[in-house]
Amino acid sequence: MAARRCLVDWLVTAAPSVPLRMKPRHFVAGDRRGIAISARNCAYSPVGTKSKPSSCAIRPQKQRRQFSAPTSPAQSSVPPFAFAFDIDGVLLHVSEPIPGAAAALRHLHRYNIPFILLTNGGGRYEADRVVDLQRRLGLDLKSSGHIISQHDLESEGSLPVLSTANFVQSHTPFQELLDDAAGLDAATAGGKEGSGGLRDETILVTGSDAARIRTIAEQYGFSSVITPADILAAYPAIYPFDPLLKSVYADTARPLPKPLLLEGGKLASQPSAKPFSPSDLDDSKYLRIAAAFVFNDPRDWALDIQILTDVLQARCGFLGTFDPASLSAEGLPKSEGGTRLFFSNSDLLWATTYHLPRFGQGAFAAAVAGVWSQLASTEQPPLLSPQSGRATLLGKPHAATYRFAERTLLRYRASLLEAHGSKASSATKEAPLQTVYMIGDNPESDIAGANQFSSAHGTDWCSVLVETGVYDPARDGSNPDYLRHRPRAIVGDVGAAVRWALQREGWPADF
Ligand SMILES: [Mg+2]
Repeated sequence: MAARRCLVDWLVTAAPSVPLRMKPRHFVAGDRRGIAISARNCAYSPVGTKSKPSSCAIRPQKQRRQFSAPTSPAQSSVPPFAFAFDIDGVLLHVSEPIPGAAAALRHLHRYNIPFILLTNGGGRYEADRVVDLQRRLGLDLKSSGHIISQHDLESEGSLPVLSTANFVQSHTPFQELLDDAAGLDAATAGGKEGSGGLRDETILVTGSDAARIRTIAEQYGFSSVITPADILAAYPAIYPFDPLLKSVYADTARPLPKPLLLEGGKLASQPSAKPFSPSDLDDSKYLRIAAAFVFNDPRDWALDIQILTDVLQARCGFLGTFDPASLSAEGLPKSEGGTRLFFSNSDLLWATTYHLPRFGQGAFAAAVAGVWSQLASTEQPPLLSPQSGRATLLGKPHAATYRFAERTLLRYRASLLEAHGSKASSATKEAPLQTVYMIGDNPESDIAGANQFSSAHGTDWCSVLVETGVYDPARDGSNPDYLRHRPRAIVGDVGAAVRWALQREGWPADF
């Protein structure tokens, strides 16, 4: 029951770098910086000193009767708070479950407390990943062989503990672009007034296994998906070296849906050369790539960088053409319709079974941006900067991913209400989502993203750091930059994190 380590909160304004041990206290709406403001005189004491008695140790149940904890799982009340969990280092460690993780998720599910999993991982279809997680965490009670009680079975309710409805991985947000190409942009995110979708446009995808990535994109609903292998097979001269994955490309390439428009060369459909004309930019005749997606860590960086930079230089996305404006200080005007590039994850490094961190997708993104900076005007904004307008970075800590995660959480919360007989629209108005507890092990992604995110709904994202992953408490304090992104609380593991939050909200935490 007790947290493995003391609960620590950060009093930002009063003592920005001094950790404080505090009792669970009320959250005050709008308190986004972790300022320990309480409606009822919470007592703070610096770590290492004895805490004074607090009048707000746990919120009395009667204070919030409309959200009181259900006495049975079938009750329909939904609390004004929710959770978002990172996976690696929080629920799993090197694919093995972290003790207490499954019990914490089951407890939340039993009380209709909404949660999502929010991971920077990817490369597999969401439904497949969810099945694998259910098995690893022992959440598939009926087939896992675990000894289970009748109470556990009854607690399953009408919704499973984990499903694709409450699961977000790095490339899940790409689905929002099916019907709204601007769906992940800050100004239009979540709206329905986008610029048309990419469902029937040709998109280029790459990743660790481009053939599998293509299948995922098609399962999402994209109807015309090509890979670097398709381009290389149709136009081997585009890459004048021996391909690293020659046999893979030969086995996975599909015919391109249309030929390339080879500006300055022999037009693919013409037997003889003719000068380029703007009227040739006809996507009924030639291949136009509307967007390029990096789903996860590519393998053949050289080929992919060549093709991606070719696409960025093309006229209106017509691969095989060259638009000098793309490299100018101003870059391509937005009205030109140049190809947008999306990276699903910008983690430079990640922890593996090797003893030192390894390059992640962020390293590939940096490589693409580095080559682009050598091609483009030095006055052009960096490719990965928001000012560039050509590339979008997703994954934690980026705001686009947190916006998507919040929309997913709100939808899931509404489905919980409906599953338990409430009218979702009226109930969510009565009980708006006030707080999301982001439980993570990585200060640079999980914690930074939650701290920096500004919810369109005024929801507070409260960051909670656990000690079962990337964060090393032994290094904390030795270097002031080690924990640049300070969480609201530091606890031992995911079970302690959930108990801390539940006690803070005045809900049962007896698991
Ligand atoms: Mg992690």
